[in-house]
Amino acid sequence: MAASFRSLTRAVSRPATRRLQPSPASIALPGVQKRLHSSKHPKGFEAPTTEELDELRERVHEFTRREITEEVAAHTDKSNAFPNEMWPKLGEAGFLGITADEDVGGLGMGYQAHAVVMEEMSRASGSIGLSYAAHSQLCVNQLQLNGSPEQKKKYLPGLIAGTKIGALAMSESGSGSDVVSMRTSAKKVDGGYLLNGSKMWITNGPDADLIVVYAKTEPDKGSKGITAFLVETKADGFSCARKLDKMGMRGSNTGELMFDNVFVPEDNVVGSVNGGVRVLMEGLDLERLVLSAGPLGIMQAALDVALPFSHQRKQFGSPIAHNQLVQGKLADMYTKLQASRAYTYATARQVDEQGVIRTQDCAGAILYAAERATECALDCIQLLGGMGYVEEMPASRLLRE
Ligand SMILES: Cc1cc2nc3c(=O)[nH]c(=O)nc-3n(C[C@H](O)[C@H](O)[C@H](O)COP(=O)(O)OP(=O)(O)OC[C@H]3O[C@@H](n4cnc5c(N)ncnc54)[C@H](O)[C@@H]3O)c2cc1C
Repeated sequence: MAASFRSLTRAVSRPATRRLQPSPASIALPGVQKRLHSSKHPKGFEAPTTEELDELRERVHEFTRREITEEVAAHTDKSNAFPNEMWPKLGEAGFLGITADEDVGGLGMGYQAHAVVMEEMSRASGSIGLSYAAHSQLCVNQLQLNGSPEQKKKYLPGLIAGTKIGALAMSESGSGSDVVSMRTSAKKVDGGYLLNGSKMWITNGPDADLIVVYAKTEPDKGSKGITAFLVETKADGFSCARKLDKMGMRGSNTGELMFDNVFVPEDNVVGSVNGGVRVLMEGLDLERLVLSAGPLGIMQAALDVALPFSHQRKQFGSPIAHNQLVQGKLADMYTKLQASRAYTYATARQVDEQGVIRTQDCAGAILYAAERATECALDCIQLLGGMGYVEEMPASRLLRE
Protein backbone atom coordinates (compact mmCIF):
# COMPACT_ATOMS: atom_id res chain seq x y z
CA MET A 1 0.00 0.00 0.00
CA ALA A 2 2.95 2.29 0.69
CA ALA A 3 4.08 2.00 -2.90
CA SER A 4 0.59 2.54 -4.25
CA PHE A 5 0.16 5.62 -2.11
CA ARG A 6 3.46 7.00 -3.37
CA SER A 7 2.54 6.47 -7.00
CA LEU A 8 -0.86 8.01 -6.35
CA THR A 9 0.66 11.16 -4.87
CA ARG A 10 3.24 11.31 -7.63
CA ALA A 11 0.40 11.17 -10.16
CA VAL A 12 -0.84 14.53 -8.90
CA SER A 13 0.91 17.14 -11.02
CA ARG A 14 3.07 19.63 -9.20
CA PRO A 15 3.30 23.21 -10.47
CA ALA A 16 6.87 24.04 -11.48
CA THR A 17 6.73 27.18 -9.33
CA ARG A 18 6.61 25.04 -6.19
CA ARG A 19 10.16 23.87 -6.74
CA LEU A 20 12.06 24.69 -3.59
CA GLN A 21 14.28 27.68 -3.39
CA PRO A 22 15.45 29.29 -0.17
CA SER A 23 13.27 32.37 0.22
CA PRO A 24 15.23 35.62 -0.11
CA ALA A 25 12.74 37.23 2.29
CA SER A 26 13.47 34.68 4.97
CA ILE A 27 17.19 35.38 4.83
CA ALA A 28 16.60 38.91 6.04
CA LEU A 29 14.49 37.92 9.06
CA PRO A 30 16.23 38.68 12.35
CA GLY A 31 16.38 36.03 15.06
CA VAL A 32 15.33 33.28 12.69
CA GLN A 33 17.19 30.02 12.63
CA LYS A 34 17.34 29.21 8.96
CA ARG A 35 18.53 26.16 7.15
CA LEU A 36 18.10 25.11 3.56
CA HIS A 37 15.34 22.60 2.99
CA SER A 38 17.97 20.28 1.60
CA SER A 39 19.45 19.79 5.06
CA LYS A 40 16.14 18.65 6.56
CA HIS A 41 14.56 16.83 3.64
CA PRO A 42 15.60 13.94 1.42
CA LYS A 43 17.52 14.78 -1.74
CA GLY A 44 15.24 16.07 -4.51
CA PHE A 45 12.43 16.83 -2.07
CA GLU A 46 9.53 18.87 -3.38
CA ALA A 47 7.01 20.30 -0.93
CA PRO A 48 3.65 18.54 -1.21
CA THR A 49 0.71 20.30 -2.79
CA THR A 50 -2.52 20.96 -0.89
CA GLU A 51 -4.15 18.18 -2.93
CA GLU A 52 -1.46 15.73 -1.91
CA LEU A 53 -1.85 16.65 1.76
CA ASP A 54 -5.66 16.32 1.53
CA GLU A 55 -5.27 12.96 -0.15
CA LEU A 56 -2.88 11.84 2.58
CA ARG A 57 -5.29 13.00 5.30
CA GLU A 58 -8.08 11.01 3.69
CA ARG A 59 -5.85 7.92 3.55
CA VAL A 60 -4.93 8.21 7.23
CA HIS A 61 -8.55 8.79 8.20
CA GLU A 62 -9.57 5.68 6.26
CA PHE A 63 -6.87 3.74 8.13
CA THR A 64 -7.85 5.00 11.59
CA ARG A 65 -11.57 4.37 10.95
CA ARG A 66 -10.68 0.76 10.22
CA GLU A 67 -7.78 0.07 12.60
CA ILE A 68 -8.03 2.56 15.49
CA THR A 69 -11.71 2.42 16.34
CA GLU A 70 -13.12 3.93 19.52
CA GLU A 71 -12.96 0.42 21.05
CA VAL A 72 -9.25 0.11 20.23
CA ALA A 73 -8.57 3.59 21.64
CA ALA A 74 -10.53 2.88 24.85
CA HIS A 75 -8.89 -0.51 25.32
CA THR A 76 -5.41 0.96 24.78
CA ASP A 77 -6.19 3.53 27.49
CA LYS A 78 -7.76 1.07 29.95
CA SER A 79 -5.14 -1.67 29.55
CA ASN A 80 -2.26 0.83 29.47
CA ALA A 81 -0.72 -1.35 26.75
CA PHE A 82 0.15 -0.38 23.19
CA PRO A 83 -1.42 -2.68 20.57
CA ASN A 84 1.91 -3.80 19.11
CA GLU A 85 0.22 -5.50 16.15
CA MET A 86 -0.40 -1.92 14.97
CA TRP A 87 3.24 -1.33 14.00
CA PRO A 88 3.37 -3.52 10.85
CA LYS A 89 -0.05 -2.18 9.84
CA LEU A 90 1.26 1.38 10.12
CA GLY A 91 4.32 0.30 8.14
CA GLU A 92 2.24 -1.37 5.46
CA ALA A 93 0.16 1.80 5.12
CA GLY A 94 3.38 3.80 4.55
CA PHE A 95 3.01 6.07 7.60
CA LEU A 96 6.24 5.26 9.46
CA GLY A 97 8.67 6.96 7.10
CA ILE A 98 6.82 10.12 6.08
CA THR A 99 9.98 12.28 6.13
CA ALA A 100 12.43 9.55 5.12
CA ASP A 101 14.16 8.76 1.83
CA GLU A 102 12.17 6.74 -0.66
CA ASP A 103 15.09 4.35 -1.23
CA VAL A 104 14.79 3.04 2.33
CA GLY A 105 11.00 2.79 2.11
CA GLY A 106 10.02 6.33 3.13
CA LEU A 107 7.59 8.69 1.43
CA GLY A 108 9.87 11.76 1.45
CA MET A 109 6.86 14.04 1.94
CA GLY A 110 8.14 16.44 4.61
CA TYR A 111 6.85 17.93 7.84
CA GLN A 112 3.40 19.19 6.80
CA ALA A 113 2.63 15.62 5.75
CA HIS A 114 4.01 14.25 8.99
CA ALA A 115 1.82 16.67 10.94
CA VAL A 116 -1.23 15.54 8.94
CA VAL A 117 -0.61 11.90 9.85
CA MET A 118 0.09 12.78 13.48
CA GLU A 119 -3.11 14.84 13.70
CA GLU A 120 -5.34 12.11 12.27
CA MET A 121 -3.66 9.41 14.36
CA SER A 122 -4.15 11.45 17.56
CA ARG A 123 -7.74 12.19 16.60
CA ALA A 124 -8.32 8.43 16.84
CA SER A 125 -6.10 7.89 19.91
CA GLY A 126 -3.73 10.38 21.54
CA SER A 127 -1.58 7.61 23.00
CA ILE A 128 -1.22 5.73 19.73
CA GLY A 129 -0.37 9.11 18.16
CA LEU A 130 2.35 9.77 20.74
CA SER A 131 3.99 6.37 20.27
CA TYR A 132 3.68 6.84 16.52
CA ALA A 133 5.55 10.17 16.73
CA ALA A 134 8.26 8.78 19.04
CA HIS A 135 8.93 6.09 16.46
CA SER A 136 8.51 7.97 13.18
CA GLN A 137 9.85 11.37 14.20
CA LEU A 138 12.10 11.03 17.26
CA CYS A 139 13.78 7.86 16.02
CA VAL A 140 13.23 7.50 12.24
CA ASN A 141 13.65 11.18 11.37
CA GLN A 142 16.64 11.60 13.67
CA LEU A 143 18.29 8.72 11.84
CA GLN A 144 17.21 10.13 8.47
CA LEU A 145 18.77 13.51 9.29
CA ASN A 146 21.92 12.42 11.09
CA GLY A 147 22.61 8.78 10.30
CA SER A 148 25.42 7.63 8.00
CA PRO A 149 24.40 5.95 4.72
CA GLU A 150 25.33 2.57 6.28
CA GLN A 151 23.25 3.23 9.42
CA LYS A 152 20.25 4.28 7.32
CA LYS A 153 20.54 1.22 5.11
CA LYS A 154 20.85 -1.07 8.11
CA TYR A 155 18.09 0.29 10.34
CA LEU A 156 15.58 2.41 8.41
CA PRO A 157 13.91 -0.31 6.28
CA GLY A 158 12.87 -2.34 9.37
CA LEU A 159 11.73 0.73 11.28
CA ILE A 160 9.74 2.02 8.31
CA ALA A 161 8.16 -1.38 7.67
CA GLY A 162 7.10 -1.52 11.35
CA THR A 163 8.93 -4.78 11.99
CA LYS A 164 11.23 -2.90 14.40
CA ILE A 165 10.16 -0.35 17.01
CA GLY A 166 12.10 2.86 17.61
CA ALA A 167 12.53 5.32 20.49
CA LEU A 168 14.73 8.21 21.60
CA ALA A 169 16.26 8.57 25.05
CA MET A 170 17.61 11.88 26.30
CA SER A 171 15.77 12.57 29.62
CA GLU A 172 16.96 11.23 32.94
CA SER A 173 15.36 11.36 36.37
CA GLY A 174 17.69 14.23 37.32
CA SER A 175 17.89 15.87 33.86
CA GLY A 176 14.66 16.97 32.22
CA SER A 177 14.50 20.57 31.01
CA ASP A 178 18.22 20.80 31.79
CA VAL A 179 18.94 17.86 29.52
CA VAL A 180 22.61 18.74 29.07
CA SER A 181 23.18 17.85 32.75
CA MET A 182 22.62 14.16 31.86
CA ARG A 183 24.79 11.63 33.65
CA THR A 184 24.65 8.56 31.43
CA SER A 185 28.22 7.98 30.32
CA ALA A 186 29.85 6.42 27.27
CA LYS A 187 33.42 5.26 27.88
CA LYS A 188 35.68 4.58 24.89
CA VAL A 189 36.82 0.98 24.68
CA ASP A 190 38.32 -1.12 21.91
CA GLY A 191 35.96 -0.97 18.89
CA GLY A 192 33.26 1.09 20.55
CA TYR A 193 31.81 2.50 23.77
CA LEU A 194 30.45 1.17 27.07
CA LEU A 195 27.25 2.92 28.15
CA ASN A 196 26.33 3.20 31.83
CA GLY A 197 23.42 5.05 33.44
CA SER A 198 19.65 5.31 33.14
CA LYS A 199 17.00 7.15 31.12
CA MET A 200 13.54 8.13 32.31
CA TRP A 201 10.08 8.64 30.68
CA ILE A 202 11.12 7.02 27.39
CA THR A 203 8.18 6.61 25.00
CA ASN A 204 8.23 3.12 23.39
CA GLY A 205 11.14 2.30 25.75
CA PRO A 206 9.56 -0.96 27.00
CA ASP A 207 9.03 -2.25 23.42
CA ALA A 208 11.84 -0.68 21.39
CA ASP A 209 14.34 -2.61 19.27
CA LEU A 210 16.45 0.45 18.49
CA ILE A 211 16.94 3.58 20.60
CA VAL A 212 18.73 6.84 19.83
CA VAL A 213 20.55 7.39 23.14
CA TYR A 214 22.46 10.48 24.24
CA ALA A 215 25.37 9.96 26.62
CA LYS A 216 28.39 11.86 27.93
CA THR A 217 31.56 10.88 26.12
CA GLU A 218 33.53 13.63 27.85
CA PRO A 219 31.66 14.62 31.03
CA ASP A 220 34.05 17.50 31.82
CA LYS A 221 33.17 19.25 28.54
CA GLY A 222 29.50 19.82 29.42
CA SER A 223 27.38 20.36 26.31
CA LYS A 224 30.44 19.73 24.11
CA GLY A 225 30.96 16.26 25.55
CA ILE A 226 27.68 14.57 24.56
CA THR A 227 27.36 11.98 21.77
CA ALA A 228 24.34 10.32 20.15
CA PHE A 229 24.36 6.51 19.78
CA LEU A 230 22.16 3.90 18.14
CA VAL A 231 21.58 1.24 20.78
CA GLU A 232 20.10 -2.13 19.90
CA THR A 233 18.09 -3.22 22.92
CA LYS A 234 19.14 -6.85 22.49
CA ALA A 235 22.63 -5.80 23.63
CA ASP A 236 23.83 -7.30 26.93
CA GLY A 237 23.38 -4.97 29.88
CA PHE A 238 20.32 -3.16 28.52
CA SER A 239 17.03 -3.48 30.40
CA CYS A 240 13.74 -1.71 30.95
CA ALA A 241 13.48 -1.36 34.73
CA ARG A 242 9.76 -0.54 34.70
CA LYS A 243 6.85 0.62 32.62
CA LEU A 244 5.39 3.84 34.01
CA ASP A 245 1.75 4.12 35.06
CA LYS A 246 0.63 7.50 33.69
CA MET A 247 -2.37 9.80 34.12
CA GLY A 248 -2.91 10.07 30.36
CA MET A 249 -1.41 8.82 27.12
CA ARG A 250 -2.03 5.43 28.67
CA GLY A 251 -1.00 2.66 26.35
CA SER A 252 1.76 4.77 24.87
CA ASN A 253 4.28 2.65 26.72
CA THR A 254 6.74 4.77 28.69
CA GLY A 255 9.71 3.26 30.48
CA GLU A 256 12.73 3.74 32.67
CA LEU A 257 15.76 2.27 30.92
CA MET A 258 18.97 0.94 32.45
CA PHE A 259 22.37 0.72 30.80
CA ASP A 260 24.85 -1.52 32.57
CA ASN A 261 28.08 -1.71 30.55
CA VAL A 262 26.14 -1.81 27.27
CA PHE A 263 28.65 -2.17 24.42
CA VAL A 264 27.86 0.03 21.41
CA PRO A 265 30.09 -0.40 18.35
CA GLU A 266 31.86 2.66 16.92
CA ASP A 267 29.74 2.30 13.77
CA ASN A 268 26.68 3.21 15.84
CA VAL A 269 27.80 6.73 16.73
CA VAL A 270 25.26 9.15 15.18
CA GLY A 271 26.94 12.26 13.78
CA SER A 272 30.27 13.13 15.33
CA VAL A 273 31.73 12.16 18.71
CA ASN A 274 30.97 15.01 21.17
CA GLY A 275 28.60 16.51 18.57
CA GLY A 276 25.44 15.09 20.19
CA VAL A 277 23.99 18.37 21.40
CA ARG A 278 23.63 19.67 17.86
CA VAL A 279 21.85 16.45 16.88
CA LEU A 280 19.63 16.72 19.97
CA MET A 281 18.71 20.41 19.73
CA GLU A 282 18.04 20.44 15.98
CA GLY A 283 15.92 17.34 16.42
CA LEU A 284 13.91 18.97 19.22
CA ASP A 285 12.60 21.74 16.93
CA LEU A 286 11.13 19.31 14.42
CA GLU A 287 9.94 16.93 17.17
CA ARG A 288 8.00 19.76 18.82
CA LEU A 289 6.58 20.82 15.47
CA VAL A 290 5.31 17.37 14.49
CA LEU A 291 4.12 16.64 18.05
CA SER A 292 2.12 19.89 18.05
CA ALA A 293 -0.27 18.12 15.66
CA GLY A 294 -1.16 15.68 18.47
CA PRO A 295 -3.26 18.25 20.38
CA LEU A 296 -4.89 19.24 17.05
CA GLY A 297 -6.16 15.69 16.71
CA ILE A 298 -7.41 15.71 20.30
CA MET A 299 -9.31 18.97 19.70
CA GLN A 300 -10.88 17.51 16.57
CA ALA A 301 -11.83 14.40 18.56
CA ALA A 302 -13.48 16.61 21.20
CA LEU A 303 -15.55 18.26 18.47
CA ASP A 304 -16.31 14.87 16.90
CA VAL A 305 -17.93 13.90 20.22
CA ALA A 306 -19.47 17.19 21.37
CA LEU A 307 -21.08 18.34 18.10
CA PRO A 308 -23.38 15.36 17.43
CA PHE A 309 -24.07 14.95 21.15
CA SER A 310 -25.28 18.51 21.59
CA HIS A 311 -27.62 18.12 18.60
CA GLN A 312 -29.02 14.80 19.82
CA ARG A 313 -29.31 15.49 23.55
CA LYS A 314 -32.64 17.12 24.34
CA GLN A 315 -33.43 19.02 27.52
CA PHE A 316 -36.41 21.31 28.11
CA GLY A 317 -37.90 19.92 24.90
CA SER A 318 -35.17 20.87 22.44
CA PRO A 319 -31.57 19.93 21.58
CA ILE A 320 -29.09 21.51 23.99
CA ALA A 321 -27.33 22.91 20.89
CA HIS A 322 -30.21 25.40 20.56
CA ASN A 323 -28.92 27.26 23.62
CA GLN A 324 -26.62 30.16 22.87
CA LEU A 325 -24.21 29.26 25.67
CA VAL A 326 -23.76 25.78 24.18
CA GLN A 327 -23.29 27.28 20.72
CA GLY A 328 -20.71 29.66 22.20
CA LYS A 329 -18.71 26.78 23.67
CA LEU A 330 -18.78 24.89 20.36
CA ALA A 331 -17.69 28.04 18.52
CA ASP A 332 -14.81 28.53 20.98
CA MET A 333 -13.68 24.93 20.52
CA TYR A 334 -13.76 25.23 16.75
CA THR A 335 -11.90 28.55 16.76
CA LYS A 336 -9.18 27.25 19.09
CA LEU A 337 -8.68 24.24 16.85
CA GLN A 338 -8.46 26.34 13.69
CA ALA A 339 -6.08 28.89 15.25
CA SER A 340 -3.81 26.12 16.52
CA ARG A 341 -3.96 24.37 13.14
CA ALA A 342 -3.00 27.57 11.36
CA TYR A 343 0.06 28.02 13.61
CA THR A 344 1.29 24.42 13.28
CA TYR A 345 0.82 24.14 9.52
CA ALA A 346 2.23 27.63 8.78
CA THR A 347 5.36 26.67 10.73
CA ALA A 348 5.60 23.30 8.95
CA ARG A 349 5.01 24.93 5.55
CA GLN A 350 7.95 27.27 6.19
CA VAL A 351 10.17 24.27 6.83
CA ASP A 352 8.96 22.44 3.72
CA GLU A 353 8.78 25.34 1.29
CA GLN A 354 11.54 27.69 2.48
CA GLY A 355 13.82 25.48 4.53
CA VAL A 356 13.36 27.80 7.51
CA ILE A 357 13.03 26.35 11.00
CA ARG A 358 11.91 28.91 13.55
CA THR A 359 12.81 27.43 16.93
CA GLN A 360 10.46 29.80 18.74
CA ASP A 361 7.52 28.79 16.51
CA CYS A 362 8.14 25.05 16.81
CA ALA A 363 7.99 25.52 20.59
CA GLY A 364 5.16 28.10 20.35
CA ALA A 365 2.98 25.84 18.20
CA ILE A 366 3.09 22.95 20.67
CA LEU A 367 2.66 25.23 23.69
CA TYR A 368 -0.37 26.90 22.14
CA ALA A 369 -2.02 23.76 20.78
CA ALA A 370 -1.50 21.76 23.98
CA GLU A 371 -3.11 24.44 26.16
CA ARG A 372 -6.04 24.92 23.77
CA ALA A 373 -6.55 21.12 23.62
CA THR A 374 -6.88 20.97 27.42
CA GLU A 375 -9.52 23.72 27.27
CA CYS A 376 -11.41 21.97 24.45
CA ALA A 377 -11.42 18.66 26.33
CA LEU A 378 -12.80 20.42 29.43
CA ASP A 379 -15.51 22.09 27.31
CA CYS A 380 -16.34 18.72 25.79
CA ILE A 381 -16.83 17.22 29.27
CA GLN A 382 -19.05 20.16 30.26
CA LEU A 383 -21.18 19.87 27.10
CA LEU A 384 -21.75 16.17 27.71
CA GLY A 385 -23.01 16.80 31.25
CA GLY A 386 -23.03 13.58 33.31
CA MET A 387 -21.98 11.55 30.27
CA GLY A 388 -18.82 13.65 30.09
CA TYR A 389 -17.81 12.25 33.46
CA VAL A 390 -18.29 8.55 32.74
CA GLU A 391 -15.85 6.32 30.94
CA GLU A 392 -18.46 5.10 28.43
CA MET A 393 -17.72 8.27 26.47
CA PRO A 394 -14.19 9.27 25.35
CA ALA A 395 -14.34 12.80 26.87
CA SER A 396 -12.35 12.04 30.03
CA ARG A 397 -9.73 10.12 28.01
CA LEU A 398 -9.34 13.17 25.77
CA LEU A 399 -8.71 15.38 28.81
CA ARG A 400 -6.12 12.97 30.22
CA GLU A 401 -4.36 12.75 26.84
C1 LIG B 1 4.34 11.17 28.38
C2 LIG B 1 5.78 11.56 28.32
C3 LIG B 1 6.58 11.06 27.30
C4 LIG B 1 7.94 11.37 27.26
N1 LIG B 1 8.72 10.82 26.26
C5 LIG B 1 10.06 11.05 26.27
C6 LIG B 1 10.91 10.41 25.31
O1 LIG B 1 10.44 9.64 24.44
N2 LIG B 1 12.24 10.64 25.37
C7 LIG B 1 12.80 11.47 26.30
O2 LIG B 1 14.01 11.63 26.30
N3 LIG B 1 12.03 12.11 27.23
C8 LIG B 1 10.67 11.91 27.24
N4 LIG B 1 9.87 12.54 28.17
C9 LIG B 1 10.50 13.38 29.19
C10 LIG B 1 10.27 14.88 28.94
O3 LIG B 1 11.06 15.30 27.89
C11 LIG B 1 10.59 15.59 30.27
O4 LIG B 1 9.56 15.26 31.17
C12 LIG B 1 10.70 17.07 30.07
O5 LIG B 1 11.90 17.37 29.43
C13 LIG B 1 10.63 17.86 31.40
O6 LIG B 1 11.57 17.37 32.28
P1 LIG B 1 11.18 17.04 33.81
O7 LIG B 1 10.02 16.13 33.78
O8 LIG B 1 12.41 16.57 34.50
O9 LIG B 1 10.72 18.40 34.43
P2 LIG B 1 11.64 19.51 35.09
O10 LIG B 1 12.69 19.94 34.15
O11 LIG B 1 12.08 19.05 36.46
O12 LIG B 1 10.60 20.70 35.28
C14 LIG B 1 9.66 20.75 36.36
C15 LIG B 1 8.92 22.08 36.28
O13 LIG B 1 9.87 23.14 36.43
C16 LIG B 1 9.78 24.03 35.33
N5 LIG B 1 11.12 24.54 35.00
C17 LIG B 1 12.25 23.84 34.78
N6 LIG B 1 13.25 24.66 34.49
C18 LIG B 1 12.76 25.90 34.52
C19 LIG B 1 13.32 27.19 34.30
N7 LIG B 1 14.58 27.36 33.97
N8 LIG B 1 12.50 28.27 34.42
C20 LIG B 1 11.19 28.12 34.77
N9 LIG B 1 10.63 26.92 34.97
C21 LIG B 1 11.39 25.83 34.86
C22 LIG B 1 9.22 23.18 34.19
O14 LIG B 1 8.55 23.99 33.21
C23 LIG B 1 8.24 22.30 34.94
O15 LIG B 1 7.02 22.99 35.15
C24 LIG B 1 8.50 12.24 28.23
C25 LIG B 1 7.68 12.76 29.24
C26 LIG B 1 6.35 12.43 29.28
C27 LIG B 1 5.49 12.98 30.41
